[in-house]
Amino acid sequence: MNQIEGIHPLRPSTLCLHAGTYLDKPTGGACSPVFTSTAYAFPNPANQNIYPRYFNTPNQQVIASKLAALEKGEAAVVFGSGMAAISTLLLAHLKPGDHAIFQNDLYGGTVQFITQELTRLGMEVSWGANAADFAAAVRPETRVIYVESPSNPLLHCVDLVAVAALGERHRVLTVIDNTFATPINQNPLTLGMDAVIHSATKYLNGHSDVNAGIVVASAEIVRRVTASAVNFGGMLGAHACAQLERGLKTLALRVQRHNENGLALAQFLQAHPAVARVNYPGLPTHPDHALAARQMHGFGGMLSFELRQPGQVDRLLTRLRIVMPALSLGGVESLVCVPSRTSHRTLSPAERQRAGISDGLVRVSVGIEDEADLREDFTQALATD
Ligand SMILES: *Cc1c(COP(=O)(O)O)cnc(C)c1O
Repeated sequence: MNQIEGIHPLRPSTLCLHAGTYLDKPTGGACSPVFTSTAYAFPNPANQNIYPRYFNTPNQQVIASKLAALEKGEAAVVFGSGMAAISTLLLAHLKPGDHAIFQNDLYGGTVQFITQELTRLGMEVSWGANAADFAAAVRPETRVIYVESPSNPLLHCVDLVAVAALGERHRVLTVIDNTFATPINQNPLTLGMDAVIHSATKYLNGHSDVNAGIVVASAEIVRRVTASAVNFGGMLGAHACAQLERGLKTLALRVQRHNENGLALAQFLQAHPAVARVNYPGLPTHPDHALAARQMHGFGGMLSFELRQPGQVDRLLTRLRIVMPALSLGGVESLVCVPSRTSHRTLSPAERQRAGISDGLVRVSVGIEDEADLREDFTQALATD
Protein backbone atom coordinates (compact mmCIF):
# COMPACT_ATOMS: atom_id res chain seq x y z
CA MET A 1 0.00 0.00 0.00
CA ASN A 2 2.90 2.30 0.69
CA GLN A 3 4.83 2.25 -2.55
CA ILE A 4 7.95 3.88 -1.12
CA GLU A 5 8.41 1.77 1.97
CA GLY A 6 11.98 0.53 2.19
CA ILE A 7 13.68 3.50 0.53
CA HIS A 8 13.61 5.95 3.42
CA PRO A 9 14.83 8.44 4.37
CA LEU A 10 13.18 10.63 1.77
CA ARG A 11 13.00 14.39 2.21
CA PRO A 12 9.83 16.31 3.18
CA SER A 13 8.74 17.60 -0.27
CA THR A 14 9.05 14.08 -1.69
CA LEU A 15 7.20 12.57 1.27
CA CYS A 16 4.36 15.10 0.82
CA LEU A 17 3.87 13.81 -2.71
CA HIS A 18 4.56 10.11 -2.49
CA ALA A 19 4.39 8.77 1.07
CA GLY A 20 1.32 6.60 1.65
CA THR A 21 -0.06 6.77 -1.91
CA TYR A 22 -2.31 3.77 -2.61
CA LEU A 23 -0.74 1.99 -5.56
CA ASP A 24 -3.61 1.29 -7.97
CA LYS A 25 -2.20 -1.78 -9.71
CA PRO A 26 -5.10 -2.45 -12.15
CA THR A 27 -4.89 1.01 -13.79
CA GLY A 28 -1.47 2.35 -12.82
CA GLY A 29 -3.17 5.65 -11.93
CA ALA A 30 -0.92 8.32 -10.38
CA CYS A 31 -3.43 9.14 -7.61
CA SER A 32 -4.93 7.05 -4.84
CA PRO A 33 -8.41 5.84 -5.88
CA VAL A 34 -11.32 6.91 -3.67
CA PHE A 35 -12.78 3.89 -1.87
CA THR A 36 -16.38 4.86 -1.21
CA SER A 37 -17.59 1.58 0.34
CA THR A 38 -18.86 1.38 3.89
CA ALA A 39 -19.33 -2.41 3.50
CA TYR A 40 -16.32 -4.67 2.87
CA ALA A 41 -16.26 -8.44 2.32
CA PHE A 42 -15.94 -10.54 5.46
CA PRO A 43 -14.33 -12.93 6.00
CA ASN A 44 -11.50 -11.69 3.80
CA PRO A 45 -7.94 -12.97 3.32
CA ALA A 46 -6.51 -10.58 5.96
CA ASN A 47 -9.35 -11.49 8.35
CA GLN A 48 -9.74 -7.74 8.88
CA ASN A 49 -13.06 -6.01 9.36
CA ILE A 50 -12.71 -2.89 7.20
CA TYR A 51 -15.17 -0.09 8.04
CA PRO A 52 -14.76 3.73 7.98
CA ARG A 53 -15.50 4.10 11.71
CA TYR A 54 -12.80 1.54 12.42
CA PHE A 55 -10.31 4.06 10.97
CA ASN A 56 -8.89 1.42 8.62
CA THR A 57 -10.13 2.19 5.10
CA PRO A 58 -7.54 2.65 2.33
CA ASN A 59 -8.07 6.44 2.06
CA GLN A 60 -7.73 6.91 5.83
CA GLN A 61 -4.55 4.80 5.74
CA VAL A 62 -3.09 6.96 2.96
CA ILE A 63 -3.36 10.07 5.14
CA ALA A 64 -2.08 8.25 8.25
CA SER A 65 0.98 6.86 6.39
CA LYS A 66 1.83 10.25 4.88
CA LEU A 67 1.60 12.06 8.21
CA ALA A 68 3.54 9.37 10.08
CA ALA A 69 6.32 9.76 7.49
CA LEU A 70 6.27 13.59 7.65
CA GLU A 71 6.28 13.71 11.48
CA LYS A 72 8.81 10.84 11.69
CA GLY A 73 6.43 8.80 13.85
CA GLU A 74 5.64 5.09 13.78
CA ALA A 75 1.93 5.47 13.15
CA ALA A 76 -0.93 7.95 12.80
CA VAL A 77 -4.71 8.11 12.79
CA VAL A 78 -6.89 10.62 10.92
CA PHE A 79 -10.04 12.20 12.43
CA GLY A 80 -13.00 14.24 11.22
CA SER A 81 -11.70 17.40 12.94
CA GLY A 82 -8.85 18.69 15.06
CA MET A 83 -11.13 18.64 18.11
CA ALA A 84 -12.03 14.96 17.46
CA ALA A 85 -8.28 14.19 17.50
CA ILE A 86 -7.68 16.24 20.67
CA SER A 87 -10.69 14.99 22.64
CA THR A 88 -10.13 11.35 21.66
CA LEU A 89 -6.43 11.39 22.54
CA LEU A 90 -7.12 12.97 25.95
CA LEU A 91 -10.07 10.73 26.82
CA ALA A 92 -8.05 7.67 25.74
CA HIS A 93 -5.44 8.51 28.38
CA LEU A 94 -7.37 10.05 31.29
CA LYS A 95 -9.84 8.66 33.82
CA PRO A 96 -11.60 10.34 36.77
CA GLY A 97 -9.07 11.35 39.44
CA ASP A 98 -6.20 11.64 36.93
CA HIS A 99 -4.37 14.96 36.62
CA ALA A 100 -3.29 16.73 33.43
CA ILE A 101 -1.15 19.84 32.92
CA PHE A 102 -1.98 22.28 30.13
CA GLN A 103 -0.30 25.33 28.63
CA ASN A 104 -2.19 28.58 29.41
CA ASP A 105 -2.57 29.83 25.86
CA LEU A 106 -4.03 26.80 24.05
CA TYR A 107 -6.47 26.96 21.15
CA GLY A 108 -9.84 28.22 22.47
CA GLY A 109 -11.72 25.05 21.54
CA THR A 110 -9.20 22.95 23.46
CA VAL A 111 -9.57 25.18 26.54
CA GLN A 112 -13.35 24.82 26.28
CA PHE A 113 -13.06 21.01 26.03
CA ILE A 114 -10.87 20.96 29.15
CA THR A 115 -13.04 23.29 31.24
CA GLN A 116 -16.45 21.99 30.06
CA GLU A 117 -15.81 18.26 29.58
CA LEU A 118 -12.65 17.00 31.30
CA THR A 119 -13.38 18.66 34.63
CA ARG A 120 -17.04 17.55 34.45
CA LEU A 121 -15.81 13.96 34.07
CA GLY A 122 -13.68 14.29 37.21
CA MET A 123 -10.22 14.95 35.79
CA GLU A 124 -8.00 17.41 37.67
CA VAL A 125 -6.21 20.08 35.62
CA SER A 126 -3.38 22.59 36.15
CA TRP A 127 -2.15 25.38 33.90
CA GLY A 128 1.30 26.83 33.24
CA ALA A 129 3.32 28.91 30.79
CA ASN A 130 6.55 26.95 30.44
CA ALA A 131 8.50 23.81 31.39
CA ALA A 132 9.36 25.20 34.85
CA ASP A 133 5.65 25.82 35.59
CA PHE A 134 4.77 22.32 34.35
CA ALA A 135 7.51 20.76 36.52
CA ALA A 136 6.12 22.56 39.59
CA ALA A 137 2.61 21.26 38.82
CA VAL A 138 3.49 17.54 38.50
CA ARG A 139 1.68 15.27 41.01
CA PRO A 140 1.66 11.48 41.50
CA GLU A 141 -1.67 11.42 39.57
CA THR A 142 -0.34 13.40 36.57
CA ARG A 143 -0.85 11.48 33.31
CA VAL A 144 -0.54 14.10 30.53
CA ILE A 145 1.38 17.32 29.80
CA TYR A 146 -0.14 19.14 26.82
CA VAL A 147 1.40 22.11 24.97
CA GLU A 148 1.01 24.20 21.81
CA SER A 149 4.08 25.82 20.22
CA PRO A 150 4.04 28.32 18.65
CA SER A 151 0.79 29.35 20.33
CA ASN A 152 -2.12 31.58 19.38
CA PRO A 153 -2.06 34.59 18.98
CA LEU A 154 1.25 35.78 20.51
CA LEU A 155 3.36 32.94 19.04
CA HIS A 156 4.80 31.89 22.39
CA CYS A 157 7.14 28.90 22.09
CA VAL A 158 7.78 26.30 24.80
CA ASP A 159 11.01 24.33 25.13
CA LEU A 160 9.97 20.95 23.72
CA VAL A 161 13.19 19.17 24.74
CA ALA A 162 12.62 20.32 28.34
CA VAL A 163 8.94 19.28 28.29
CA ALA A 164 9.83 15.88 26.82
CA ALA A 165 12.52 15.33 29.49
CA LEU A 166 10.02 16.25 32.21
CA GLY A 167 7.53 13.74 30.83
CA GLU A 168 10.19 11.06 30.64
CA ARG A 169 11.32 11.71 34.22
CA HIS A 170 7.80 11.35 35.61
CA ARG A 171 6.54 8.77 33.05
CA VAL A 172 3.88 11.22 31.87
CA LEU A 173 2.58 11.35 28.29
CA THR A 174 3.76 14.56 26.54
CA VAL A 175 1.50 15.91 23.77
CA ILE A 176 1.88 18.88 21.42
CA ASP A 177 -0.63 20.55 19.14
CA ASN A 178 1.72 21.21 16.19
CA THR A 179 -0.91 22.90 14.00
CA PHE A 180 0.82 26.30 13.70
CA ALA A 181 4.26 24.85 12.88
CA THR A 182 3.26 21.99 10.52
CA PRO A 183 5.55 18.95 10.15
CA ILE A 184 7.61 20.98 7.68
CA ASN A 185 8.68 23.52 10.31
CA GLN A 186 8.80 21.37 13.46
CA ASN A 187 9.05 17.63 14.24
CA PRO A 188 8.34 17.30 18.00
CA LEU A 189 8.66 13.49 18.05
CA THR A 190 12.35 13.84 17.12
CA LEU A 191 12.73 16.16 20.16
CA GLY A 192 11.30 13.49 22.48
CA MET A 193 7.61 14.43 22.65
CA ASP A 194 5.30 11.38 22.75
CA ALA A 195 2.37 12.48 20.57
CA VAL A 196 1.70 15.15 17.94
CA ILE A 197 -1.75 16.51 17.09
CA HIS A 198 -2.75 18.60 14.09
CA SER A 199 -5.89 20.35 13.10
CA ALA A 200 -5.50 19.26 9.45
CA THR A 201 -8.21 21.84 8.70
CA LYS A 202 -5.43 24.43 8.70
CA TYR A 203 -2.06 24.10 6.91
CA LEU A 204 -2.17 20.34 6.20
CA ASN A 205 -5.20 20.66 3.91
CA GLY A 206 -4.28 24.27 3.25
CA HIS A 207 -7.21 25.31 1.08
CA SER A 208 -9.88 26.21 3.67
CA ASP A 209 -12.24 23.50 2.45
CA VAL A 210 -11.79 20.38 4.63
CA ASN A 211 -12.21 19.77 8.39
CA ALA A 212 -9.84 17.06 9.66
CA GLY A 213 -7.46 16.15 12.48
CA ILE A 214 -4.45 13.86 13.02
CA VAL A 215 -2.65 12.11 15.87
CA VAL A 216 0.91 10.89 15.17
CA ALA A 217 2.84 8.85 17.77
CA SER A 218 4.32 5.42 18.49
CA ALA A 219 2.38 2.41 17.23
CA GLU A 220 1.39 1.62 20.82
CA ILE A 221 -0.05 5.08 21.53
CA VAL A 222 -1.85 5.17 18.17
CA ARG A 223 -3.35 1.72 18.90
CA ARG A 224 -4.71 3.00 22.20
CA VAL A 225 -6.09 6.22 20.68
CA THR A 226 -7.67 4.30 17.79
CA ALA A 227 -9.34 1.85 20.20
CA SER A 228 -11.11 4.83 21.87
CA ALA A 229 -11.71 6.53 18.52
CA VAL A 230 -13.80 3.56 17.36
CA ASN A 231 -16.08 4.19 20.36
CA PHE A 232 -16.28 7.98 19.95
CA GLY A 233 -16.76 7.77 16.19
CA GLY A 234 -15.03 10.93 14.96
CA MET A 235 -13.90 9.49 11.61
CA LEU A 236 -13.18 11.20 8.29
CA GLY A 237 -14.98 10.08 5.10
CA ALA A 238 -13.28 8.89 1.92
CA HIS A 239 -13.95 11.98 -0.19
CA ALA A 240 -12.57 14.33 2.44
CA CYS A 241 -9.51 12.05 2.79
CA ALA A 242 -8.91 12.30 -0.95
CA GLN A 243 -9.23 16.09 -0.84
CA LEU A 244 -6.85 16.25 2.14
CA GLU A 245 -4.38 13.99 0.31
CA ARG A 246 -4.36 16.41 -2.62
CA GLY A 247 -3.74 19.33 -0.26
CA LEU A 248 -0.90 17.51 1.48
CA LYS A 249 0.96 16.98 -1.81
CA THR A 250 1.87 20.68 -1.87
CA LEU A 251 2.38 21.16 1.88
CA ALA A 252 6.16 21.65 1.76
CA LEU A 253 5.89 24.02 -1.20
CA ARG A 254 3.16 26.07 0.47
CA VAL A 255 4.88 26.23 3.86
CA GLN A 256 8.09 27.45 2.22
CA ARG A 257 6.11 30.40 0.78
CA HIS A 258 4.21 30.92 4.07
CA ASN A 259 7.61 31.15 5.82
CA GLU A 260 8.97 33.66 3.30
CA ASN A 261 5.84 35.82 3.29
CA GLY A 262 5.52 35.61 7.10
CA LEU A 263 9.03 36.93 7.68
CA ALA A 264 8.73 39.62 4.98
CA LEU A 265 5.39 40.89 6.32
CA ALA A 266 6.63 40.77 9.93
CA GLN A 267 9.65 42.90 9.01
CA PHE A 268 7.50 45.31 7.01
CA LEU A 269 4.94 45.74 9.83
CA GLN A 270 7.66 46.16 12.45
CA ALA A 271 9.00 49.15 10.54
CA HIS A 272 5.53 50.69 10.03
CA PRO A 273 4.80 53.84 12.09
CA ALA A 274 1.20 52.72 12.89
CA VAL A 275 2.43 49.47 14.45
CA ALA A 276 3.65 49.30 18.05
CA ARG A 277 4.84 45.69 18.13
CA VAL A 278 5.01 42.55 15.95
CA ASN A 279 4.87 39.01 17.37
CA TYR A 280 6.65 36.64 14.98
CA PRO A 281 9.12 33.98 16.17
CA GLY A 282 11.38 34.70 13.18
CA LEU A 283 12.09 38.25 14.38
CA PRO A 284 15.14 38.59 16.67
CA THR A 285 12.99 40.89 18.87
CA HIS A 286 10.56 38.03 19.70
CA PRO A 287 11.20 36.79 23.26
CA ASP A 288 11.27 33.15 22.07
CA HIS A 289 13.32 33.73 18.90
CA ALA A 290 16.40 31.78 20.06
CA LEU A 291 14.27 28.84 21.22
CA ALA A 292 12.27 28.85 17.96
CA ALA A 293 15.50 28.95 15.93
CA ARG A 294 16.73 25.92 17.89
CA GLN A 295 13.66 23.70 17.64
CA MET A 296 12.01 24.80 14.37
CA HIS A 297 13.15 24.48 10.73
CA GLY A 298 11.11 27.54 9.68
CA PHE A 299 9.09 30.22 11.49
CA GLY A 300 5.75 29.80 9.74
CA GLY A 301 3.03 32.05 8.36
CA MET A 302 1.30 33.13 11.58
CA LEU A 303 2.00 36.54 13.14
CA SER A 304 0.21 39.15 15.19
CA PHE A 305 0.80 42.86 15.62
CA GLU A 306 -0.40 45.63 17.85
CA LEU A 307 -1.69 48.91 16.44
CA ARG A 308 -0.48 52.05 18.23
CA GLN A 309 -4.09 53.23 18.14
CA PRO A 310 -6.56 50.41 18.90
CA GLY A 311 -9.32 52.65 17.43
CA GLN A 312 -7.74 52.03 14.00
CA VAL A 313 -8.71 48.34 13.99
CA ASP A 314 -12.09 48.73 12.25
CA ARG A 315 -10.64 51.04 9.65
CA LEU A 316 -7.90 48.49 8.91
CA LEU A 317 -10.41 45.63 8.57
CA THR A 318 -12.71 47.52 6.20
CA ARG A 319 -9.88 48.89 4.05
CA LEU A 320 -7.94 45.68 3.40
CA ARG A 321 -8.67 44.51 -0.18
CA ILE A 322 -6.72 41.26 -0.60
CA VAL A 323 -6.40 40.18 3.00
CA MET A 324 -9.77 38.95 4.25
CA PRO A 325 -11.12 39.44 7.79
CA ALA A 326 -12.02 35.87 8.74
CA LEU A 327 -11.59 33.21 11.37
CA SER A 328 -9.53 30.04 10.87
CA LEU A 329 -6.00 30.03 9.47
CA GLY A 330 -3.43 28.11 7.50
CA GLY A 331 -5.04 28.37 4.06
CA VAL A 332 -3.45 29.69 0.87
CA GLU A 333 -5.29 33.02 1.26
CA SER A 334 -4.22 35.68 3.80
CA LEU A 335 -6.68 36.24 6.66
CA VAL A 336 -6.83 38.69 9.58
CA CYS A 337 -8.78 38.58 12.82
CA VAL A 338 -8.93 40.51 16.09
CA PRO A 339 -8.39 38.07 19.00
CA SER A 340 -10.05 40.36 21.61
CA ARG A 341 -13.27 40.05 19.59
CA THR A 342 -12.96 36.41 18.53
CA SER A 343 -10.87 33.72 20.27
CA HIS A 344 -10.54 35.73 23.51
CA ARG A 345 -13.89 37.57 23.58
CA THR A 346 -15.23 35.62 26.57
CA LEU A 347 -12.35 36.78 28.82
CA SER A 348 -12.82 39.87 30.98
CA PRO A 349 -10.76 42.96 29.99
CA ALA A 350 -8.47 42.29 32.99
CA GLU A 351 -7.96 38.64 31.96
CA ARG A 352 -7.24 39.73 28.40
CA GLN A 353 -4.67 42.24 29.63
CA ARG A 354 -2.98 39.53 31.72
CA ALA A 355 -2.88 37.29 28.65
CA GLY A 356 -1.32 40.10 26.58
CA ILE A 357 -4.34 40.40 24.25
CA SER A 358 -4.96 44.13 23.71
CA ASP A 359 -7.90 45.56 21.76
CA GLY A 360 -5.43 46.71 19.09
CA LEU A 361 -3.95 43.24 18.54
CA VAL A 362 -4.46 41.90 15.00
CA ARG A 363 -3.61 38.31 14.02
CA VAL A 364 -2.56 37.53 10.46
CA SER A 365 -2.53 34.13 8.77
CA VAL A 366 -0.14 35.07 5.99
CA GLY A 367 -1.09 33.33 2.73
CA ILE A 368 0.90 32.51 -0.40
CA GLU A 369 0.02 35.62 -2.43
CA ASP A 370 2.83 37.73 -3.89
CA GLU A 371 4.46 39.30 -0.88
CA ALA A 372 4.61 42.76 -2.51
CA ASP A 373 0.82 42.72 -2.95
CA LEU A 374 0.35 41.92 0.74
CA ARG A 375 2.69 44.78 1.69
CA GLU A 376 0.84 47.18 -0.60
CA ASP A 377 -2.52 46.09 0.82
CA PHE A 378 -1.38 46.77 4.40
CA THR A 379 0.27 50.03 3.30
CA GLN A 380 -3.00 51.44 1.88
CA ALA A 381 -5.13 50.04 4.72
CA LEU A 382 -2.86 51.53 7.43
CA ALA A 383 -2.43 54.93 5.70
CA THR A 384 -3.65 57.87 7.80
CA ASP A 385 -4.77 60.12 4.89
C1 LIG B 1 -8.32 25.05 14.55
C2 LIG B 1 -7.46 24.49 15.60
C3 LIG B 1 -7.86 23.37 16.34
C4 LIG B 1 -9.20 22.70 16.15
O1 LIG B 1 -9.31 22.11 14.90
P1 LIG B 1 -10.73 21.83 14.18
O2 LIG B 1 -10.33 21.15 12.91
O3 LIG B 1 -11.41 23.15 14.00
O4 LIG B 1 -11.50 20.94 15.08
C5 LIG B 1 -6.98 22.88 17.29
N1 LIG B 1 -5.79 23.47 17.52
C6 LIG B 1 -5.38 24.55 16.84
C7 LIG B 1 -4.06 25.16 17.13
C8 LIG B 1 -6.19 25.10 15.84
O5 LIG B 1 -5.79 26.18 15.18
